[in-house]
Amino acid sequence: MASEFKLRDTLLERLSGARHVFVLTGAGMSAESGIPTFRDAMAGLWAKYRPEELATPEAFQADPARVWRWYEERREAVRAAEPHAGHFALVELETLLPAVSIITQNVDGLHQRAGSGTVCELHGNILRSKCHISHRQIGREWIADDNHNPPRSPYVKGGLARPDVVWFGEVLPQDAFDAAMAAAVDADFCLSVGTTSLVQPAASLPLLALEHGAALVEINPQETPLSLHADQCFRGKAAEVLTSIIDQLKA
Ligand code: NAD
Repeated sequence: MASEFKLRDTLLERLSGARHVFVLTGAGMSAESGIPTFRDAMAGLWAKYRPEELATPEAFQADPARVWRWYEERREAVRAAEPHAGHFALVELETLLPAVSIITQNVDGLHQRAGSGTVCELHGNILRSKCHISHRQIGREWIADDNHNPPRSPYVKGGLARPDVVWFGEVLPQDAFDAAMAAAVDADFCLSVGTTSLVQPAASLPLLALEHGAALVEINPQETPLSLHADQCFRGKAAEVLTSIIDQLKA
């Protein structure tokens, strides 16, 4: 088969015989669905800020209204987005192999909307909200009915609603990270898609899979610190490369 994104024969063999595929996705996975990466989201009104100035507990403490407004814009983008061919290719992968674990740094829920079965959200979900003090989840109806910016928490006096995402400087949800580590250790094939491989601890997961014997393939238009560890790197976009890999697997 003639493909710009041809998997090496040995890797195609390993993927065809894989027992468990571990897929780590980052913001680049959602770029073709129209959801900006952080770098792209810092445009217009927000150009004067860095993500670290909006996506931190300190930023929320200093100016909750500003941070809530920024997240409202990002939620609009997520609500308007649809999964793309790359998300559906990963759903199809599940029908071709015994086990596929998707570990995502994305907070947009697009893998689940596409229909992937095993999705582990390392950084939370932007469409959910929680109390900034008790961290208990707050329902959508409550958020919709409260006109404050941000809405008040129903649980704690002085508490405010904040997005249920992991901010810079915060710890990942332990259950999600434990599940991701277990999947990385068990996997025999790893795909890293659309992530700069800089944000820890997520960036360490493909290396953990590699240490435990998995083959490693990276999909990213740009080189990353993971590239030199990969068995093969595809310098293309998530949708085109993932659909090509599925075609090769089915051929
Ligand atoms: P990131 O560190 O994951 O970087 C994006 C990467 O995607 C870059 O390496 C870029 O070269 C690559 N890329 C761009 N377009 C691509 C495409 N079409 N196909 C494949 N790769 C492509 O993301 P970030 O923007 O620096 O964000 C850091 C963290 O912030 C994320 O890990 C996430 O937790 C959160 N975030 C989430 C979303 C989302 O849920 N969609 C969006 C922005 C930020």
